[in-house]
Amino acid sequence: MLVLGIESTAHTFGVAIVRMQAAEQPQVLANVRRTYTTTSGGLIPAKLSEHHMNVFSSVLSDALVQAGASVPDVGLVAYSRSPGIGHALRIGAGVARSLALRHSIPLVGVNHCVAHLEVGRVLSGRDDVSLLYASGANTQVLAREGGAYRVFGETLDLGVGNFLDTVARLLGLGFPGGPQLEELAKQYSGPLIELPYSVKGMDVSFSGMQTAVKRLIESGASAQGIAFSVQETVFAMLVEVSERALAHTGKECLVLGGGVACNARLQEMCRLMCVDRGVEFFAPPNEFLVDNGAMIALLGARVFAQSGGVAVSKAGIDPYERVEQC
Ligand code: AMP
Ligand code: MG
Repeated sequence: MLVLGIESTAHTFGVAIVRMQAAEQPQVLANVRRTYTTTSGGLIPAKLSEHHMNVFSSVLSDALVQAGASVPDVGLVAYSRSPGIGHALRIGAGVARSLALRHSIPLVGVNHCVAHLEVGRVLSGRDDVSLLYASGANTQVLAREGGAYRVFGETLDLGVGNFLDTVARLLGLGFPGGPQLEELAKQYSGPLIELPYSVKGMDVSFSGMQTAVKRLIESGASAQGIAFSVQETVFAMLVEVSERALAHTGKECLVLGGGVACNARLQEMCRLMCVDRGVEFFAPPNEFLVDNGAMIALLGARVFAQSGGVAVSKAGIDPYERVEQC
């Protein structure tokens, strides 16, 4: 069966076509996306929905062409129903409903955070995984435990990517800041500059570090030293809570998700921790770490197999849904 997955929780509009095959790994035939970018900082919801409206038909047709498929070949349409920015979610849900209605295809809506977990599970080939989800707006450690999805740890304030972007902005760098900090950090060979290390139980917090970074910049510290020290400190915090979640849950594999997880240093630190603990580590290729339609298709197939689809008239969105509610 071909599953068409639509992602539209935030800046990315993505469409994927995935072939689900009994007893074999699913095959991703196409995974196309366009991302809204801005030089002026935050995402303006109205601009975002305009972007998604403008690109959806070309993303859809590019995905179909790449997959060598047409809409009537599709056996299931899956879309991201939660959580995210309402203006963006509505475009994806609208496209999904139109396709389902026009071609009488079953429809299912899924949770975006759980989809990051699912793509890690499927691509790693490990059933019992824990996810470190490190993106712009989200920072969570997730796993399925006792028959439900649970958050084992999360940020108490900013998402880690938004924090890195703020540090980059304070240093006068452009957006997105994470990749630029990664490059700067590689150029530094001095000692670690001490920054507030804020792990509270299973949760993390970045606001104290943000204040400390502002002071460091005022005192004339080098951008390279700041980038290096921010990365080392922030990633150590994420690795600590990920390790504690592995210890609590006894999961056999840590998988990564989210744009920040593209960072080679974060991947290295996670890998070292997992080797030390004797568990598997899996970082999906970047196209599956960032927001993408393939993960929506994969989770959609699973949800549909377990609990069936949703009527077009009831296929809504839920901008604030938590994974515990899934
Ligand atoms: P997402 O919200 O999952 O689309 O991820 C976007 C966030 O990932 C932005 O905050 C980026 O700055 C961040 N990001 C992307 N690539 C990297 C990288 N190589 N290192 C650190 N952060 C990154
Ligand atoms: Mg995401």
